[in-house]
Amino acid sequence: MTDLHRLSIRELSSGLHEGKFSSRELTQHYLNRIAKIDAQINSYVTVTPEQALTEADAADAALKSGHAHILAGIPLAHKDIFCTKGIRTSAGSKMLDNFISPYDATIVTKGKNAHLVTLGKVNMDEFAMGSTSENSYYGATKNPWNLDHVPGGSSGGSSAVIAADLAPFATGTDTGGSIRQPASFCGLTGLKPTYGRVSRYGMIAFASSLDQAGPMARSAEDCAYLMNVMAGHDELDSTSVQKPTDDYVANLTQTNVKGLRIGIPKQYFNVEGLNAEVKACVEASLKHLESMGAILVEIDLTMVDSYVPTYYLLGPAEAASNLSRYDGVRYGYRCENPKDLEDLYKRSRSEGFGEEVQRRILIGTYALSAGHADDYYVKAQKVRRLIQQDFLKAFEHVDVIAAPSAPTTAYKIGAKRTPVETYLGDLYTLAANLSGHPAINAPIGFDQQHLPIGLQLIGQYWAESQLLSIVHQYQQTTDWHTQRAAIAEENV
Ligand code: GLN
Repeated sequence: MTDLHRLSIRELSSGLHEGKFSSRELTQHYLNRIAKIDAQINSYVTVTPEQALTEADAADAALKSGHAHILAGIPLAHKDIFCTKGIRTSAGSKMLDNFISPYDATIVTKGKNAHLVTLGKVNMDEFAMGSTSENSYYGATKNPWNLDHVPGGSSGGSSAVIAADLAPFATGTDTGGSIRQPASFCGLTGLKPTYGRVSRYGMIAFASSLDQAGPMARSAEDCAYLMNVMAGHDELDSTSVQKPTDDYVANLTQTNVKGLRIGIPKQYFNVEGLNAEVKACVEASLKHLESMGAILVEIDLTMVDSYVPTYYLLGPAEAASNLSRYDGVRYGYRCENPKDLEDLYKRSRSEGFGEEVQRRILIGTYALSAGHADDYYVKAQKVRRLIQQDFLKAFEHVDVIAAPSAPTTAYKIGAKRTPVETYLGDLYTLAANLSGHPAINAPIGFDQQHLPIGLQLIGQYWAESQLLSIVHQYQQTTDWHTQRAAIAEENV
């Protein structure tokens, strides 16, 4: 069969359970596609064919026994930020180019327990710091819709593998938009759950109070299947919540779009950098939701000018602290022939970390240092609280909040931008991380260059089911999520 990569997760599951094809055939099909196509995209940092085929055989045995998990035998790709026992976990950094974790991240274990088959580890901005995937030690990943453009970041390997049909779904992480923005740039669905919904154990830390893992796939339905595996309390992560999870698949039809109150923050649509085509497309998608019965309500989110400065203080502050563990002694890169301990620390860190990571460590260290902490770190924490309150107030009037996921479509690879210009591109995604709310990207159309555009919906705490359900129903009446880039159409 040459078109297995065109099937949805539900179709893959029933094909495997009905014995129409085996996990080994399906896995081999994806491995063939990766071998043929990935040289053009550079999405996989590590492909693990032998282990994948072994896992596929185990899944086939489970399927034969008649007691297999619904996702048994379906392949997936993990962002290279999740620790995988025995397989390199690089976080896109020279610092961890030689790092092999002695244990699996909880979500990796959960995937294994469900007999999902890991195809490999995919590219990302170094330590998840970036919006383009160009900040990777392994080189830039290309956007399957147009190879001259970025796939977004930091989960750009995850978005690229799905858009090129080199994996049917993938894990991602989102500290300030890294699931939603690459999903937007590649025409996919991606969910950032409420902070605490998914375990962070074994996920390499960037900014611990903002980091959250989530599913990326073509459709909300595909994401719901992966969310069912990923979500849940983990005693190994004290910030994961005890709250019971939903059945995200069963709940796909739960929300009634008729009468749903969608808040439109008026400040978001008057932002200078918002591209006119993106704006028009987002407005058209909202009109579509209105035609399905939703009620559009103009709301105020007054703190919009504070998102970028607040995030770009707190994120780096937490990163500076988290990344202090890479000292050239315990693990990771160590410089050659250090003169003394000081030289070992200095050179290991300046040779092992890339430019953007070093910039964040410097900003974060400055913001935390004695004499500056009150002016920067403490103040940013207070503003963070105000941003959260702004959202809580808005949610007294509406069920969900709509926004663009990004002010533009995918940037050109290598386009010259100052760091601050890049940071401003994160404007629409940062707030949900600062406040902890769940948020989803849905593909809603294309610009004139045929690059995808995304709509973001931000939900109340723990409303993952509702977000997936709204997008699922939108996807029952539109076909943006089924459209494929030319490279994905290539048969192998
Ligand atoms: N682009 C943002 C940053 O560079 C967000 C990254 C992320 O969510 N990991 O920090």
